[in-house]
Amino acid sequence: MPYPAGRHFLQIPGPTNVPDRVLRAISAPTIDHRGPEFAELAREVLSALGPVFGTAGPVVVYPSSGTGAWEAALVNTLSPGDRVLAFETGHFATLWRELAEKLGLVVDFVPGDWRHGVDPAAVAERLERDTGHSVRAVCVVHNETSTGVTSRVPEVRRALDETGHPALLLVDTVSSLGSIDYRHDEWGVDVTISCSQKGLMLPPGLGFNAVSEKALRAADSATLPRSYWDWRPILTANERGFFPYTPPTNLLYGLVESVAMLREEGLDQVFQRHRRHAAATRAAVRGWGLEVLCLDEREHSASLTAVLVPEGHDADKLRELILDRFNMSLGTGLGRLAGRVFRIGHLGDLNDLSLAGTLSGVQMGLQLAGVPIDSGGITAALRVLEEA
Ligand SMILES: *Cc1c(COP(=O)(O)O)cnc(C)c1O
Repeated sequence: MPYPAGRHFLQIPGPTNVPDRVLRAISAPTIDHRGPEFAELAREVLSALGPVFGTAGPVVVYPSSGTGAWEAALVNTLSPGDRVLAFETGHFATLWRELAEKLGLVVDFVPGDWRHGVDPAAVAERLERDTGHSVRAVCVVHNETSTGVTSRVPEVRRALDETGHPALLLVDTVSSLGSIDYRHDEWGVDVTISCSQKGLMLPPGLGFNAVSEKALRAADSATLPRSYWDWRPILTANERGFFPYTPPTNLLYGLVESVAMLREEGLDQVFQRHRRHAAATRAAVRGWGLEVLCLDEREHSASLTAVLVPEGHDADKLRELILDRFNMSLGTGLGRLAGRVFRIGHLGDLNDLSLAGTLSGVQMGLQLAGVPIDSGGITAALRVLEEA
């Protein structure tokens, strides 16, 4: 293969572009994970994570993908045969459901059309019916990465409070944390699940559980088998700055750096930047005369946009063409959306010109693929970016 000049555009909704500062931090020599220097690093990492999750409580860090963090949230809080309430918002919600069922949980899976988020009224209605309180947890994917739809977690919380239902609230923030406003404590979430390779701008390899007091109490009576994922030995070791097994030291170097970058920019500014880039992307899509998958104005994701391709065109052929011609990766359609949508990731380390370049590549790709579009899409997006 000849050398492809310039940077690859990694515009999938995770893994995202890793900033140079983070790559340099990761390249430092690995140290003794039982020595004093490591304890200092661990304390720094663990205290810096709180503000990112919006919590004053503990955040458990695993050497894992997001899927591991899903499993950890379930095995620490639930017992075989427990009922959980979950919502079919898209591919990731469906995968989480399958994982829960393999663990021996009974999932009430509320059907969805993959174009809307969790309906808070449906949460209230299901919980009201559960007068015996047999539902032990409500599972919500905050930002459904397969569809570009963001669920309204505070309204889901309100549904739990208004029905007085004691179920735990477990929220997947894998593609929202560090990109979309999120508040573990304020929103009364019991376990927040996340990982490193999306808004946190790191390579894959770190999984997280932010844990409430109520979730910690649930962990004491939960009986699903757990060993590697058990919060308790990890939290105990963390008190002295250590982990019960070998931690991913170099990724922790990177995490210190990426959290520092979020802090320097300011989390509110980071969220605002993502919202602006999402608005510019939607302006492009509508300018092209194409359809955004998300159907509710209140639920557009700030971290990615899923775009429907017109009947008779294959979204994956389009992605292939764009990769070949412009060295840019876009997200594929997942599950039942395969071939019908492509996804533009606009999260992580991104500025106005990286987005303008991304959208230019998409527009040229659409034209080359023979998808009938209006070339005013780019102009419409640039108008949004021109505004301060
Ligand atoms: C990417 C993603 C996951 C899965 O994470 P892995 O690191 O691939 O295991 C889970 N949930 C959501 C919402 C995601 O975007």
